[in-house]
Amino acid sequence: MRAAQEIAQRLFAGDRAALARLISWAENADARFPDALALLYPRVGRARRIGITGPPGAGKSTFVNALVGKLRERGETVGILAVDPSSPFSGGALLGDRIRMEERVADPGVYIRSMATRHGHGGLARAAVDACDVMDAFGFDVLLVETVGAGQSEYDVVEAADTVVVVLCPGAGDGVQAMKAGLLEVADVLVVNKSDLTGADRLALDLEDALELRSLRRDGREPPWKVPVVSACALREEGMERVLQTLDDHRRWLEAGDLAALRRKKRTAHVRRVVGERLDEELWGRQGAEARVDSLLRGSCTPYDAAEAILGSFLKERDSRRP
Ligand code: GDP
Repeated sequence: MRAAQEIAQRLFAGDRAALARLISWAENADARFPDALALLYPRVGRARRIGITGPPGAGKSTFVNALVGKLRERGETVGILAVDPSSPFSGGALLGDRIRMEERVADPGVYIRSMATRHGHGGLARAAVDACDVMDAFGFDVLLVETVGAGQSEYDVVEAADTVVVVLCPGAGDGVQAMKAGLLEVADVLVVNKSDLTGADRLALDLEDALELRSLRRDGREPPWKVPVVSACALREEGMERVLQTLDDHRRWLEAGDLAALRRKKRTAHVRRVVGERLDEELWGRQGAEARVDSLLRGSCTPYDAAEAILGSFLKERDSRRP
């Protein structure tokens, strides 16, 4: 508890080393993190959280860079979390993206952190939400969480945000692909980036058509949120005013409804991930758990029988420990 108190105090005093340390605790599921978060929690909830995803190469990092520029012009401070998927194949490309962000590093109103985690069972999204809570408690006005739109665990990461921006561009990762990948389902705002390239207008129209066919978003609220398609050229920082306006519109729409309820719903998913991770640890952290599975499989156990046996003995053990 002393360690948690000390680091929380340092965080509240604006110490960035404490910020980095706490995010590492979140990333590594460090046993000290829950106590620290309890101290931070009264200060969590003020920041706007924006998730940004899309296919690789769509220009997400360039877009984040341009967006940060706009937010800084308004005097807002920004915490950025770049969540790298654990795939070893994309490591090099993502490193390149980070280098592009370096011009922002010197700005004291900006904090950039990349995170990769190999934890299973929703560990990536769990760690990302925890890291955002830490940045929120530190006091950033806006949190940007960027991840490649590659799979469910990456969608989980951005969907924990209040507003999800999907960045697409003409050519590779076009509208049809985006639909196949379920990217339209997660989007609150669609950005057609690289508006300087041919095919961008076509893509924007196709997306608008596709959205038209879908029922309006969301949660049965009136008026519903109509997912806008915004064109931008992140590279030349063009169209970013519109993007910012659209993000503000969505924010106002959320606030006119029940933002607290929406956040609680997203928190519930977070709690489920924490429970999943904790159960996983409890089950497989026990001595001899894997050896037990091995011996069950040596017999005539099916994987389901083995799973039942493991679960059953775990629950029995818990029961017997109860006073
Ligand atoms: P990410 O993989 O989605 O993060 O994409 P990047 O931000 O790394 O961008 C991929 C490539 O697209 C880079 O070469 C960028 O310079 C380029 N790019 C980004 N935005 C634009 C744009 O608005 N127009 C053009 N023509 N290229 C862009």
